Amino acid sequence: MTAPGALNVGFVGLGTMGSHMAANLVHAGFSVAVHNRTRDKEARHAALGARRAASPAEAADGADVIVTMVSDTPDVEGVLFGSRGVCEHAAEGSVVVDMSTISPAAARDFATRLGATGVQFADAPVSGGSEGAEQAALTVMVGAAPETFDVIRPVLQAMGSKITHLGPVGSGQLAKAVNQVIVGGFYLAVAEGIALAAASGLDTDLLLEAIGAGACRSWVLEHRAQNMINGSFPLGFRLALHLKDERIALETAQGLDLDLPLSALVASIEERLTQEGFGDEDVSALARFASRRSGA
Ligand code: NAP
Repeated sequence: MTAPGALNVGFVGLGTMGSHMAANLVHAGFSVAVHNRTRDKEARHAALGARRAASPAEAADGADVIVTMVSDTPDVEGVLFGSRGVCEHAAEGSVVVDMSTISPAAARDFATRLGATGVQFADAPVSGGSEGAEQAALTVMVGAAPETFDVIRPVLQAMGSKITHLGPVGSGQLAKAVNQVIVGGFYLAVAEGIALAAASGLDTDLLLEAIGAGACRSWVLEHRAQNMINGSFPLGFRLALHLKDERIALETAQGLDLDLPLSALVASIEERLTQEGFGDEDVSALARFASRRSGA
């Protein structure tokens, strides 16, 4: 396996997730160049020993592996192919690993366009939230050619604890879409259960202790039910980003002639909450909707 010191890594996107992930790459001993659109977010990483890059192109300069972790499909496209984008300086033989959650079709398109310049591509979206990012304990779902996966594996291992190569480019995003469909259902189900418990006057501490040991035990119940009870929804994972992911899943399903009724319901509630100004809250703000009295 390649030693961390032997690989130069460019990292673009120091948001909630990317900030921790890039820091973990520095801690693991990689030589890291960081870039963020809002440049002052790079200061923390510079203090840890990373080099600051003035653009995505500069972050890609001399990098063996370039990681992107931005919001949505058009943002990844801009970072890769826009002015001062990664594409301008990425060397032939280098690998772009997009860890954002975007559409599987876009991932395949980006792979083709980068491939035309001799740059390899992998999609490697993650699950595990900001806690997982901070603790280098992310679940990473990878779509890549086998030889590309071999190159990026040590980089991914510095950010995650469960790295799975699911197949060719696009497979990681498909797996993430499945993950988001299931997670969305969990959030809405826990929100509804909590609404029922609160309205019926149950002791919610005792309730969580009881049901948390039974069949409905889940990450959402364990980590977000108490916030739902408290009616406060600190990030976490922004509801507007989860809505983006549900739309990716619904669009992918439509292309396969498949209905996803639960996802359609979660997306419609998230759309409404976003319109009401709650899109920047955690996904657990679905509890705002579930706790409304009928007719509200
Ligand atoms: P975030 O906190 O909103 O950060 C977004 C990052 O992308 C920021 O660094 C932002 O730069 C940058 N960015 C956005 N649009 C850009 C553009 N057009 N050009 C250049 N940079 C741009 O998001 P996050 O929570 O870290 O999520 C990042 C990705 O991971 C998303 O695809 C999300 O769905 C996925 N994800 C998130 C979680 C989670 O729990 N948060 C979990 C799993 C997966 P600025 O600082 O300048 O705004």
